[in-house]
Amino acid sequence: MIKDKIYLFDTTLRDGAQTQGVDFSLDDKFKLAKALDDLGLDYIEGGWPEANPLDTKFFNNPPKFKQSKFTAFGMTKKTGRSVDNDPGISALLNTKVSSICLVGKTWDFHVDVALGIKNSDNLENIKESTKYFVKNKKELMFDAEHFFDGYKNNKEYALSCIKSAYDEGARWVVLCDTNGGTLPNEIGDIIQDVIKYIPGKNLGIHAHNDTENAVANSLTAILAGVRHLQGTINGLGERCGNANLMSIIPTLALKNKFNKNFEISIKEEKIKQVTNLSRLLDELLNRKPNRHLPYVGGSAFSHKGGLHVSAVQKDPKTYEHVEPNLVGNQRNIVVSDQSGKSNIVSRLKSIGIDFKQDDPKIKKLLEEVKDREFIGYSYDGADASFELLARRLMGEIPRYISITEYDVSVKKDSSGKIISSAKAQLEVDGEKILCEGEGNGPVNALDNAIRENVDKLAKYSKYLKDLKLVDYKVRILNTGTEAVTRVSIESTDSKGKNWFTIGVSTNIIDASFKALVDSLDYKLFKDNAPASL
Ligand SMILES: [Zn+2]
Repeated sequence: MIKDKIYLFDTTLRDGAQTQGVDFSLDDKFKLAKALDDLGLDYIEGGWPEANPLDTKFFNNPPKFKQSKFTAFGMTKKTGRSVDNDPGISALLNTKVSSICLVGKTWDFHVDVALGIKNSDNLENIKESTKYFVKNKKELMFDAEHFFDGYKNNKEYALSCIKSAYDEGARWVVLCDTNGGTLPNEIGDIIQDVIKYIPGKNLGIHAHNDTENAVANSLTAILAGVRHLQGTINGLGERCGNANLMSIIPTLALKNKFNKNFEISIKEEKIKQVTNLSRLLDELLNRKPNRHLPYVGGSAFSHKGGLHVSAVQKDPKTYEHVEPNLVGNQRNIVVSDQSGKSNIVSRLKSIGIDFKQDDPKIKKLLEEVKDREFIGYSYDGADASFELLARRLMGEIPRYISITEYDVSVKKDSSGKIISSAKAQLEVDGEKILCEGEGNGPVNALDNAIRENVDKLAKYSKYLKDLKLVDYKVRILNTGTEAVTRVSIESTDSKGKNWFTIGVSTNIIDASFKALVDSLDYKLFKDNAPASL
């Protein structure tokens, strides 16, 4: 059976870049473009040349792709100007790319209110602009902005807009749900009608996520006949985001309904890269990855609760819809109070700790976890602290750096500035090392005292140089008689692997300190640092 091809178009670098708080550097754009090309997207939209200096620079010296087509974005010509006298159009034509994605209005309301021109002028702009690029041998995609709202408001006009682009030779007519308010059933119905005028092999979908249906709408559009799909990494995009390619790609590749009937350019062995690509975007944006993202999130294959865990151990299919390694993710067994021995056993296994099934230490560890959970510890997310707890119990963690004393103070000076300073007395190989630091808050000061004096830490300096605190969270818990503080810390290093540690105490500084010490110990342990003498 010949399968229809679905063409995938990434717009992270253009539509995604329009998100509040997102500011890609040129280097970020190169990194993401390279990763998308390596994954095997058909089209990568780089941005809007001449709209801002960064995009101009990007297009002047575009990345070299192995398989993706680099695409430039722009707008149909302005009313009252001829195509060859429109600076926006010339900027697009002058780029070195062969594919152009041109956005134009298809909702009469927008033509009237946003552009303030006549419907016929807008039609003319679409027609002339398309004709111009096609004549100049560019592959043209027409992004029909607000198409679904336009169709609902004035079907005849919306259709005439997209038909004029198609008739003038647009390779793709991309139906955009720009406001993101269209529901899957409407997408299906409308596309079934549009297909009477434009064949599905020339139609695309660009969905926004304002009703959380961007992925569903994209998949529905494919089933209704379109063969081109636009989206972004992690669904990045303004307001509620765009269609998430990190969910769509695995679905197209792994779900029967799609992989039996359609093919994509992304090779089977490349599907595994989606998890890394998802994390790469977060890293470039300096954001904490969303653990609950389908397929690629840290919790997507996490199992908690004794019953679930023992079933997963018998056969992962009991609680997993696909195998985590198919998307480059991994199974994660979460330890919690409600879980039993089976959780601990399987979590130890995944860490790679050797033990015998009847080893009394397993029972001891379970009791220790339960005791600690009772006073407020939670090892759900704190993998590193759990591993340290287990390995300490097994006698596998040597003493690295001892912290013998610390002193934290907070003061407000006459200008009203609040300064926290910390001193910590450390000991390595019997030698005392005094570390001092300041910070915005006692915990930050304590952290700085250790990390800013890392050069003094003798043989441990080189191991701790690239250690970085990524995130820090404090929760006040009430456990029985007194309030305790739970501090969780996320750390990372130059290898890019993040680890989570926790500390619990009635005192916030002490809780923070415990979490910090675990973070240091974990880093030293995983990098095979020698023990302190
Ligand atoms: Zn958009």
